[in-house]
Amino acid sequence: MENKAVVNKIIHFSNVDGPGNRMAIFFQGCNINCVYCHNHETINKCINCLKCIPGCPTGAIKEVDGRVVFDEKLCIECDQCIKVCGYSASPRTKEYTVEELFEVVKEFKAFIRGITVSGGEPTLNAAFITELFKKVKPLGLTCFVDTNGFFDREQIAGLIAEADKFMEDIKAVDQIEVLCGTKMKNNLDNLKYLLEQNKVYEVRTVITMDYMDVENTLHTVAGIMKDYPEVIYKLIRVHATGLRDEQKEKLQGRIPSEEYVKLLAEQVKEIGVGKVELIL
Ligand code: SF4
Ligand code: SF4
Repeated sequence: MENKAVVNKIIHFSNVDGPGNRMAIFFQGCNINCVYCHNHETINKCINCLKCIPGCPTGAIKEVDGRVVFDEKLCIECDQCIKVCGYSASPRTKEYTVEELFEVVKEFKAFIRGITVSGGEPTLNAAFITELFKKVKPLGLTCFVDTNGFFDREQIAGLIAEADKFMEDIKAVDQIEVLCGTKMKNNLDNLKYLLEQNKVYEVRTVITMDYMDVENTLHTVAGIMKDYPEVIYKLIRVHATGLRDEQKEKLQGRIPSEEYVKLLAEQVKEIGVGKVELIL
C-alpha cells in the first residue's frame, strides 16, 4: 500500500525551526492537547462534518460527495474555517505521497539548508517521514524532527536512525495530564535516549504557572542537559495571543513575568546548561 500522510501546511522558508533556512512541514494529527496549544487545528484529522463550509467567504471549501474539498487558489487565509471547527481540525489539509512531498522539497533545495518535520506530532507519521528523509538526505539537506517527546522509541526506531537531529519539547516532568491531556510520561526518558544517541539539537520548555512545577521541570531537564553542552535549552514564556477564548481563560494569571523567566534562565545556566535561549 502506498505510504501517504496528511499535511496541514508547509512553510517553504523558516528560520525558527532549526539551524539555517529550512522548509518546515507540519503534519496533521497530535497525540496530546496542551492548554496553550497555538496550533489547535492540527490536532485531529477532519471528520467531514461540513460545518465550516457556509462561513467560507470565497468558496475555497466545498462539499463533494459528502467530503470537504479545499481549493488553495481561492483561499484568502482568513482562518474562519478553523475558528468554526469544533473538532480541532482543518479543511485546508492536503494528502501527499512520499514522492509528491519529496518533489516539493526538491523544488526548493537550492534555497534551504534542510527540512524540519513538525505538527501536530510528526512521529505519528514515522514510517512516511523515514522514507521522506531517505530521499531528502542525498540532496545534501539535513533532516530534523520537532517532537513533543511522547513517542514509543521502538516504534520509531527507523526514524531515529534516519533523522539528523530532534528538537524535543519537555512540556513538564509532573502534572503532564493536566497540562497536556495525556497519561503518557515517557518524554524525559525519550530525551535521555536521544541525547545519548547524539540526536538532539534543541530542547524547549514553555513556562506556564500552576499547570506545571516550573522549577522542578527546569532543574530536572538542566540536570540531564549539563552533560551535553552543545545542545540548546530554549525557555519560552507562554503567551495567550491568538489562543481560543477558553484557552485564554485557563491561562489567566498564569503567564510568568519576563523577570521570572530570566531568573529561571540564570538557574539553568548555574546547573550547567551550556546554551540557553529565551523567548520572552
Ligand atoms: S474541518 Fe472541522 S468543521 Fe470543517 S468539515 Fe472538517 S471537522 Fe467539520
Ligand atoms: S481560511 Fe478557510 S474560511 Fe478562510 S478562505 Fe480559506 S478556506 Fe475559506
